[in-house]
Amino acid sequence: MDEIVFDITQQIPCRKTQIQLLASIVGKADCPLPSCIFLYGHSGTGKTLVTTSVLEKLGVLTSHVNCVEFYNARVMYETILNQLSGTLPSSINNYTSYAACDNLGDFVRHLKNIGYAQGKPRMAIIMEHSERLRDCDTSFLPALCRLQELTQDINILVILSSTLPIDKFRPPTGLMEPIILHFPQYTKDELIEILLKLRPTSYSEEFYRNYVSLVLSVFYLATKDLPELKHQVQLNFHAYCEPLEKGEADEGDVRKLWRNIEPHLKKALTSVYLRQVSSSQYERMQCLTETGGHELSHTKSSVTAKMELPFYSKFLMIAAYLASYNPARTDRRFFMKHHGKQRKTKAMIKAKERSRNQLVGPKPFPLDRLLAIFYSIIDDKVTPTANLFSQISTLVTLRLLTQVGGDDQLDSPKYKCAVSFDFIRSIARMVNFDVVHYLYNYS
Ligand code: ATP
Ligand code: MG
Repeated sequence: MDEIVFDITQQIPCRKTQIQLLASIVGKADCPLPSCIFLYGHSGTGKTLVTTSVLEKLGVLTSHVNCVEFYNARVMYETILNQLSGTLPSSINNYTSYAACDNLGDFVRHLKNIGYAQGKPRMAIIMEHSERLRDCDTSFLPALCRLQELTQDINILVILSSTLPIDKFRPPTGLMEPIILHFPQYTKDELIEILLKLRPTSYSEEFYRNYVSLVLSVFYLATKDLPELKHQVQLNFHAYCEPLEKGEADEGDVRKLWRNIEPHLKKALTSVYLRQVSSSQYERMQCLTETGGHELSHTKSSVTAKMELPFYSKFLMIAAYLASYNPARTDRRFFMKHHGKQRKTKAMIKAKERSRNQLVGPKPFPLDRLLAIFYSIIDDKVTPTANLFSQISTLVTLRLLTQVGGDDQLDSPKYKCAVSFDFIRSIARMVNFDVVHYLYNYS
C-alpha cells in the first residue's frame, strides 16, 4: 500500500495528505468500502485527479459522471449503469443502453445484477459537481449516501465531489453523514512546484522556475485557478524564449527576458478565462509546429483576426444552434460521450421526420439543455462558473440569443438561437468544430 501511495504522490505533487487518507479509506482488494465520501474544495484543486488515480491503482471498478450533463434522472442512471457494466452505446448497437432505468428502485436492482454478474467487484461512482443533485428529488441525495445499504451485499462507494461545503447540502429530511475530505487551495509555492512539471526537457529547471515565478507574480492576483495558470504558462513560454532563440540573451539574463515577456503577459492578463484558443487546441497547434505543419499559422491568424467572441461564447453559440435545430430526443445519439463519429446513412436522411428543421426556424430550449450540449461538445473541462453564465447573458444582450418567455421564469429561462447557419458555420470553423456532423437531418 505504501508503494502505491508513494507512486501516486510522485505523479501528483502537493496532495500527499489527501492521497494517503483516501488510500487508507478505500483500502486494498477485499476491504469493504465506506458508503459515501464527500470531497470539497475549489475548482482545479485536484479532487478528480487524486480520486481517479487512487481508485484506479487500488483496482476499484469506477463510474465517473458529471452531474452537469444530466438534464433528467434517467440519463444519469443509464450512464452509470453503462459505465459499470462496460456497455458502450454506439451506432453499432443502435445506441442501446445496458437497461432502461428511470427510478431509484430499478437502479438499485440493476446495480445488484451488475455486481453479481461481474463477481462482486469493488465499485465506485464518482459524481462531479454533485451540488446539482440538490435540485433532484429530496430523497435522492440521502439515498445515494446509503446506496451500499440499499444494494445490500454489493460493495459500492459513492464519491460526491463539489466546490461547496457539506453544510450547503443537508436536505430537510436529513442525510447520513459521509466521510468528508477537504482539498484546500494550493499556495503559491505549491503552484510553482506543480507548474514546474510542465518544463520542456531542453530547458534547465532553474530557468523554468524563474519563468513560472514570473508568470505567477503577474497572474496570482487575478486567478489562482490551476488549469488557467497552466494554460497561461504554456501559452507564453514561447514568447519568453524568443530572445534566447535569436541569440540576444542567455538563460541568466533575467532582466532582458522580463522586458521581452512583460507586454505579452500584460496582454494575456486581460483575457484570463476568456481564451481565444482552448488548451487542447493549443497543444494540437504546438504538435503541428513541431512536425513542421503550417496549419498553425493559418488557424492562429484566422482565430485572432476574426476574434469577436471569447472562446467559450463561440461554443455556447454552437450549442445554442444545435439545441434550437435538433429535436431533443436525438441528443443522446449525438452527444453521448464516447459515441464515436456519427455515421450518416441514407436511411437516416430519409428518416420519418422529413421536414427540414432548418426551414421551420429555431425552437426554444431550456438553459440546462444548452449547458448539457455545451459540455459535451467542448474538449476542455469547464466549470459552470458565474463567468460562463455571464457570457450567456452577454450573448442575449448582443441579440445572438433570444430569451423566450416572461421574466417570471427566473429558475429556468428558455432561449432561442437568433443567428443563421452561416454565422455558426464560420464560428465553428474558427474553433475547428464540425457542426454539420452534429445536425439532425441536415443534408
Ligand atoms: P472541479 O471541482 O472543477 O471538478 P477538481 O478539483 O476536480 O476541479 P481536477 O480536475 O482534479 O480538479 O484538476 C484540474 C486540473 O489541474 C487537471 O488538469 C489536473 O491534472 C491539474 N492538477 C490539479 N492538481 C494537480 C497536482 N497536484 N499536480 C498536477 N496537476 C494537478
Ligand atoms: Mg473534478
